[in-house]
Amino acid sequence: MPHPVFSSVPAVAPPRLEVQSLSRTFGGRPVVDGVSLTIAAGQVTCLLGPSGCGKSTTLRMIAGVDTPDAGHIRIDGAEVCGPGLSLPPEARGVGLMFQDFALFPHLTVAQNVAFGLRGDREAKSRRVGELLDRVNLSGYGAKHPHELSGGEQQRVALARALAPRPRIMLMDEPFSGLDNRLRDGIRDTTLEVLKEEGAAVLLVTHEPDEALRMADEIALMRGGRIVQCGSPYNIYNSPADKAAAAFFSDVN
Ligand code: ADP
Ligand code: MG
Repeated sequence: MPHPVFSSVPAVAPPRLEVQSLSRTFGGRPVVDGVSLTIAAGQVTCLLGPSGCGKSTTLRMIAGVDTPDAGHIRIDGAEVCGPGLSLPPEARGVGLMFQDFALFPHLTVAQNVAFGLRGDREAKSRRVGELLDRVNLSGYGAKHPHELSGGEQQRVALARALAPRPRIMLMDEPFSGLDNRLRDGIRDTTLEVLKEEGAAVLLVTHEPDEALRMADEIALMRGGRIVQCGSPYNIYNSPADKAAAAFFSDVN
């Protein structure tokens, strides 16, 4: 009997997002200093670290709204950023969600969600309906943002960001403007929707409990560098050093 034919083994797909040795200085000061990370489709990675450690700058470079001094960014194996190359945000297939990424006040909820969609009216309206359903806001399509609570607005923003089926969702402290009371619920809803949609997710937060609740993998950042990377369980139970342990010490 001949050996199995190796070419029948499916090729291993490249990771959805691959960031390699990304660096950025401001006024001669390194703010992001050799950051590397990999995220698979369907995976949620939380970039976790104290304020000022370089999280937003990292996310902005991946989004394509800031340019690194060095390093590479690849999406599905194709370079979108490297020496002499930087594709604009709209060519990268990323969805963005920021704390103060407001909805368009003059548009209805449905129009907000449809905003980035191309194609015929019927397909758009199907997609809008599907997403409003996922974020538990079916029936809200004709309302305007000011008629919604903060948590509801945030769910519309999530639906809007996901509508064009981004390959990567980049979220920068998306829940920090919300009432404490609402947060756990909206974190769970968000996670559920993200998993259904299957994008690779990079979620930036300075809150350990948020990362522990939402992440498949946590990348712990300090002073522009990733100091530890692993599952929430591993990072929580085996912090790499005293500073990492202290960072988690007030989580209950
Ligand atoms: P984080 O999101 O972790 O709080 P940031 O990435 O926003 O951190 O910022 C990291 C550091 O870089 C901070 O000290 C910040 O002041 C500085 N920084 C960020 N953007 C700029 C900029 N455009 N010009 C100068 N310094 C900046
Ligand atoms: Mg920030």
